[in-house]
Amino acid sequence: MPISAWWNWWGRRPSSDNVEPQDLEELDRYVWQACWLDDSKRRSMVLWAKRFIASKHWEGCNGFRINDEVKKTIALNASLLVLAYPEWTFPSTRTILVYPRPYKARSKGGDLHHGLGGEYYRSGETVARGPIALNWHDIQRAIHRDNDGDHIVLHEFAHQLDMCDDPKADGIPPLPPGLDAEQWREDFETEFHLAREMVEQGEEIVIDDYGLTHPSEFFAVASECYFQIPWDLREYHPELYELLQDFYVTDLAHAMDRS
Ligand SMILES: [Zn+2]
Repeated sequence: MPISAWWNWWGRRPSSDNVEPQDLEELDRYVWQACWLDDSKRRSMVLWAKRFIASKHWEGCNGFRINDEVKKTIALNASLLVLAYPEWTFPSTRTILVYPRPYKARSKGGDLHHGLGGEYYRSGETVARGPIALNWHDIQRAIHRDNDGDHIVLHEFAHQLDMCDDPKADGIPPLPPGLDAEQWREDFETEFHLAREMVEQGEEIVIDDYGLTHPSEFFAVASECYFQIPWDLREYHPELYELLQDFYVTDLAHAMDRS
């Protein structure tokens, strides 16, 4: 998907479909953040999820059975990431694979995410312009407010956003028009190195260590924090919070301040 295609979606709004009261009840059940968002955003999430669910091939792996709850939980949580881009339904991702729990995978050689080759357990995976794999056990943990920031759905879909303009994951998503992309990249890299330095000096930070392994993981893990622990991220990494707000637009910490 060339970057120009991304901009074709910018600012467009979904067509009007029905949103039933039951849809909004399910939104609140599966996405704890939704109750802080205004009515138009909530409706937009429901409509986006319906289009997303209908446009993907869903496949249960290792005996897992996919039902409506699984599809809605994944789609409604993923919709948080694209509230500013409601027509973007990850067109290059045709298949969503769901495992019951973290699964064994083999790596032929060293790779970015898992170091040396061999067998290891994987929570999820994103292939550039390809399928996304998730596991239901970790998804159920992710959708509760009182976890420490882990959110596998946000993590894997954030990777997909990172890679939609360039299959080489670099932690830089396609940025909105009007934003100084070079400056954003520079500031993002500064935040990445700053977080690494803080940990090297023994400081505890709200971003999981895994996010410090590579800029692409930093973007994915910081995206999890942005939506899952927005107050903490804004308090301890205010510049990073602002950078992510440039892209995601939705300011959940501010929405939660007001209520
Ligand atoms: Zn990752």
